[in-house]
Amino acid sequence: MAKQTTDFRYNTGATKVPWAAVGENYNVHDLMEIIRFLMQGEGKEYDDALEAVWKQVKKLEPLASPPGKLSLGSRVEQAEAACCDYLKTDSATFVTNATAGFEIAYKYANLKEGDEVIVPAITFVATMAYPLAIGCKLVFADVDPRTINMDPADVARKITPKTKMIVPVHIGGYPVDLDPILELAKKHDIVVLEDAAHAFGAMYKGRMIGTIGDFGAFSMHEVKNITSFGEGGILCTSIPGYTPHMKRARFLGLDFSCPIKDWLYNITPIPGKEHPFVPGNSSTTEIQGLGLTLQISRNEEIIKIRREAAEYLTKRFEENDAIIPQLLDSEDIKPTYHLYLLQIDPAKAGGDVQVLKKKLEEKGVTQIAHFGPLYRFKIVQDMGYDSDEIAKTCPNCEEAFYKRFTHLPLYGLSKEQIEYMADAVLESVKEMQAGI
Ligand SMILES: *Cc1c(COP(=O)(O)O)cnc(C)c1O
Repeated sequence: MAKQTTDFRYNTGATKVPWAAVGENYNVHDLMEIIRFLMQGEGKEYDDALEAVWKQVKKLEPLASPPGKLSLGSRVEQAEAACCDYLKTDSATFVTNATAGFEIAYKYANLKEGDEVIVPAITFVATMAYPLAIGCKLVFADVDPRTINMDPADVARKITPKTKMIVPVHIGGYPVDLDPILELAKKHDIVVLEDAAHAFGAMYKGRMIGTIGDFGAFSMHEVKNITSFGEGGILCTSIPGYTPHMKRARFLGLDFSCPIKDWLYNITPIPGKEHPFVPGNSSTTEIQGLGLTLQISRNEEIIKIRREAAEYLTKRFEENDAIIPQLLDSEDIKPTYHLYLLQIDPAKAGGDVQVLKKKLEEKGVTQIAHFGPLYRFKIVQDMGYDSDEIAKTCPNCEEAFYKRFTHLPLYGLSKEQIEYMADAVLESVKEMQAGI
């Protein structure tokens, strides 16, 4: 059956010599491999079930036609519409990943060498990759000891006339206290980019995280709460009228809203804060769009399961006051529980978190500890930053990372596994207190 001709860019109507918008099609054999990939198994029963599927799938071949578009089509639009609906915003652009979304926001701010960007001392390297790459000066804000999120009071101390951006990161899906940061940004004319990689569905004072700063980017990488087949990001903006520019910024400046009339001047730069910029390409595929739409519809259920696991752990940890548990929902704050922030008070526990981590490892409890002080990374040191000097300006970060916190998993676990994890933490801390 003929391929549908849905790509506006080419005159692919009922011409005698069509120009197919899609290159090579996928066929039923490919489809079976995709099923085999997404639903893996082995053994006779599995093989028999797969054989039965194959028999049925083969019948589709003569009846079906391939999609006319595989990139930036209606499925991507549907995913964006689902995001808008869920996030109560009219701005969502589906990009390859959160890092690509950050880049668009950074380019909007017309960042250049020597400009200062304030990031939290603890986050994933993706937050700082672009400003580091172009020679900005990264300024590391100390963390709030209770949440390990960026501390607004330290941000206030570190703003200078060169500060162009502040990047609050909602670590573990727990919202940063944004109001004081937005106030500072307004006063000093600074662009705010929310790194909401962990926080799709979190709320701050009745507003959806990621839609509050000038920009906000979510990650749909496979390790985050929901995914679009392994990679993906959603970029939102609260700048009035900017969304159409952001959509063009995703694909080299092309305007998708009208057919291309003139191949020469259809592509224009994207407006930035002070001057236009040249965008890159962070387009997403229809398959990713489909995958994201499906997972968004389950997001509330996923958060609920994660919240219940966190509630259980926090309740169990009440037993020992050396344990500082993850904060739960409050009137103002609704986290996504991407990670469980487990902290201990070293004085009361009779040892620091390094001891606890070792004990948990011995008991077979996985911890997710890949968020270290950025200023200690070799790449940052090699770029000329003095780690020890910066560490002096981030005392809470030093204390939290080396002495107090680790992250526990919350999802994909059985009731027994969660109970085992709680027992293991309680036992380990008790052992530390007894000097074992
Ligand atoms: C995962 C992550 C990112 C990057 O997300 P990608 O979609 O992989 O680019 C950014 N910030 C934080 C805090 C993250 O954990």
